Amino acid sequence: MERIEKIVFATGNMGKMKEIKAIFQGFQGDILSMKEAGIVCDIEENGATFEENALIKARAIHAHTDALVLADDSGLEIDYLDQAPGVLSARFMGEDTSYHIKNAALLRKLEGVPQEKRTARFVCAIAAVLPDGTEKVLRRALEGYIGYEESGENGFGYDPIFVVPKYGKTTAQLSMEEKNEISHRGKALEAIKEELKDVM
Ligand code: IMP
Repeated sequence: MERIEKIVFATGNMGKMKEIKAIFQGFQGDILSMKEAGIVCDIEENGATFEENALIKARAIHAHTDALVLADDSGLEIDYLDQAPGVLSARFMGEDTSYHIKNAALLRKLEGVPQEKRTARFVCAIAAVLPDGTEKVLRRALEGYIGYEESGENGFGYDPIFVVPKYGKTTAQLSMEEKNEISHRGKALEAIKEELKDVM
């Protein structure tokens, strides 16, 4: 297969761009966000799984470029709530509702639930569509449990309620470097890089 000269990552999030550029450091070509690549398209993430949503995004961008396209989809699964909020993590209680309110609501749903039943994970699926249309998709997770109150100021989203057993801290209490080292997204990006090593 021909070498890849350009990667487009289906995100507008600069934090994610920084992370992917750090992980794909050795890559010789350009790594661009959708905006940097001049791609404008409205994508409906209506898949039932993280993998489906990542593929929906990657396929939509693939239609606009001959670059290698990467897309991710992530969220929080809480076992006691049948894996909710899952693929609806961003939309849970409404996209514009603050995470303080969302986190408080989840903590209330788990009131009185003992630690061994509070297991949860951050999940990240990454899809790749190669210039010739070949598709790859995989998922990685960060396992932990839901704490009893919000703690920590770092990170975003559900970080203040997600406890990493190894540290006994929430991901909002970890530094960005500590979190990136163990995060679902970091692991998924490393794994897709390994999958793509023959074309890069
Ligand atoms: P997306 O993959 O950017 O659409 O993110 C989905 C949603 O999952 C985010 O809006 C957060 O609610 C949640 N989420 C994903 N990763 C994390 C994380 O590392 N910390 C906290 N929340 C996360």
